[in-house]
Amino acid sequence: MLDPDRIEALRNQPQAPASHVIGGELRPASDGTVLEVISPIDGSLLTTVPKGTREDAEAAIAAARRAFDEGGWPEMAPAARKKILLKWADLIEANALELAVLGVRDNGTEIGMALKAEPMSAVATIRYYAEAIDKIGGEIAPTAPGNLGLVHKEPAGVVGAIVPWNFPLMIGAWKLGPALAAGCTVVLKPAETASLTLLRIAELALEAGLPAGVLNVVTGEGAVVGDAIARSMEVDVLVFTGSGATGRRLLEASAQSNMKRVYLELGGKSPNIVFADAPDLDEAVKVSANGIFRNSGQVCVAGSRLLVERSLHDAFVEKLSAFTETMKVGDPLDPAVSAGAVNSLRQLEQNLAFVEEARAQGRTIVTGGTRILQETGGYYMAPTIVTDVKPDDRIAREEVFGPVLAVLPFDTEDEAVAIANGTDYGLAAAVWTGNLSRAHRMIRRIRAGVVHVNTYGGSDLTVPLGGVKQSGNGHDKSLHAFEKYLDLKTAWIKL
Ligand code: ADP
Repeated sequence: MLDPDRIEALRNQPQAPASHVIGGELRPASDGTVLEVISPIDGSLLTTVPKGTREDAEAAIAAARRAFDEGGWPEMAPAARKKILLKWADLIEANALELAVLGVRDNGTEIGMALKAEPMSAVATIRYYAEAIDKIGGEIAPTAPGNLGLVHKEPAGVVGAIVPWNFPLMIGAWKLGPALAAGCTVVLKPAETASLTLLRIAELALEAGLPAGVLNVVTGEGAVVGDAIARSMEVDVLVFTGSGATGRRLLEASAQSNMKRVYLELGGKSPNIVFADAPDLDEAVKVSANGIFRNSGQVCVAGSRLLVERSLHDAFVEKLSAFTETMKVGDPLDPAVSAGAVNSLRQLEQNLAFVEEARAQGRTIVTGGTRILQETGGYYMAPTIVTDVKPDDRIAREEVFGPVLAVLPFDTEDEAVAIANGTDYGLAAAVWTGNLSRAHRMIRRIRAGVVHVNTYGGSDLTVPLGGVKQSGNGHDKSLHAFEKYLDLKTAWIKL
């Protein structure tokens, strides 16, 4: 599907100014203002999106409310809802390469990963939840004979979804798939620097027959549009993927408004732990490098801390750095690159500041550490490995969200666990070992939503993704994701 000629043809396709999708209509911002969309590939102006106002957010919420209360979406026969969602998935699939290239021009992810992880992942997600619509039901409680207890599962209402820029379609679909399948209606706010593909799939949803107002997409600033959604008295559930600082604001906004349920996925500082008895070191090297450097480290589950048993440390770092230097970084529309552009200049500067701080503290930059390809006008960073890192360093505790790997040695299993659990986060982890008992001990002891063994980052839709500690709460993916979008209602009937 990665036809280079088609990619080249799509690369320079002019993009008309984009519009919100509100109540089934394409609309500009209520005051006509726009945000410029700068392509991280070369720093050029790609197009504009509406700079949404509070009124825009409120109009979208009102449309979603009407579509839920009066529009018939929650009451529609499950098979009919399923048919529309499956048609939507087909339309996204038919436009997959166009969507992938548009997304890459908007956010900089390398095309090989973007096609799989963005439109095609959204297609799989929407199909998965569409197919589940008529396979989940309520319960009959095991009451004493004189009573009948029925447990209904009802759609929770209007969902506000606020999503980030690293994988807008994948993460967007993780919210939209189960929310829409459950019978909820949605107001979605994309990130400022990655809105275009989500607007496009909302248009395709209308084409697929999704009733007006069931899915609304409002672009603009987090502090305006996102805040209006978070504070709305008409939004019943708020789902979010993004930074901890914003997650905290959303919890406050909920507390200060209608106490809507808030589900947060907040990134991590995930430990990738290599024991000296790892079965295949070359595999561990390759997978560890990809686990932090693909998509320039802009992956919530990125393995950003490498913990290596001391006896293996120097040899492993040497192999890792040699492999990393073979990874091609550059034009994300070149199918041969391993890592494309950093999403924005702001993010690039933030990444470099972390490295400079580590350098100033006397840590060793084994490879990378610099901005590269500046002559293109784009935002590129060399994959960076930092050693001699101490567990209390900022680079070992805070999420960089860039291609920066902090390496720490350890001597014992207990020490590995203490370092691994020694941050505020708990999203992902990995353990490389040939010892089965050790693998299971580590799975139990590491506080994280997912622990990989002898791999990093693999997953599919059948298993949940969610964090513990300050990595968040609630789960995307798998049938568990429905829990966020369904309310339980008991009917207690005297017989
Ligand atoms: P990052 O720093 O990686 O961009 P953010 O948490 O700032 O992460 O962004 C994730 C999403 O949250 C984006 O859609 C952004 O617009 C939105 N957002 C940012 N600030 C707020 C806020 N105060 N209220 C609601 N949404 C916000």
